[in-house]
Amino acid sequence: MLPDFIRPLPIHRQLGSFARTDYLTLIQDEQHGITLVDTGLPGSEQQILDALKDLNIRPKDINNIVITHGDMDHAGSARVLQEKTGAQLWSSAVEALYISGEKAFYKPLTEDFLIQLPPDVAQQLREGIPPVKIENELIADACLPFARNAQVIATPGHTPGHVSLFFPEAKTLIGGDAVMADGEQLIFPRFSLDNRMALESIRHLASLAPWVLIAQHGGVLTHDVPEKLQRLAAAGIPLSG
Ligand SMILES: [Zn+2]
Repeated sequence: MLPDFIRPLPIHRQLGSFARTDYLTLIQDEQHGITLVDTGLPGSEQQILDALKDLNIRPKDINNIVITHGDMDHAGSARVLQEKTGAQLWSSAVEALYISGEKAFYKPLTEDFLIQLPPDVAQQLREGIPPVKIENELIADACLPFARNAQVIATPGHTPGHVSLFFPEAKTLIGGDAVMADGEQLIFPRFSLDNRMALESIRHLASLAPWVLIAQHGGVLTHDVPEKLQRLAAAGIPLSG
């Protein structure tokens, strides 16, 4: 069962004929306020703020924003959300280079795809992540000084500095894009930069045996999660992956 201090925040966006849902996550901590995990595509801030308002959460209630990795659909609205909330931003040191614009974005979208989108959205995505400085570094295996002391799990592969968050007592994992879900099925992370490392990370996550898993692409899984992770780890790298 999903612990009561964790709440998925599904953000729906219609980009022309493409509909997508990103499952961001909120972590409630009485002492340290609310943490938001990931920020969606560029231009998602209004949907996110509206979704928070529906939950009676004010922008200033968000004290920390954790970014699992520097892909556009995770770091895209970080800058605007930081401005609106005043939250501290956190990512791994590797991903911070891409989010801050020090290194060029590693997965530019193709024009073949962009041309199918409404022109204003295409232009926003063409410009990439609005760069923002990350003040705080996520260290592998450390526990956060907020967010119920979630454990930082290095899960490289999808991107080099990807991290997941684990709550050992609640056996709950916020997996970012280290794994994805399609309905009740777990699937190998698409668009991974290093599939071998991504598989190693899935093995690592399987060893944690979480009961609950939140995948940004796919949502919340609560049934047979340890077995599903074991099976995904055993299946190896898919041919099309
Ligand atoms: Zn993603």
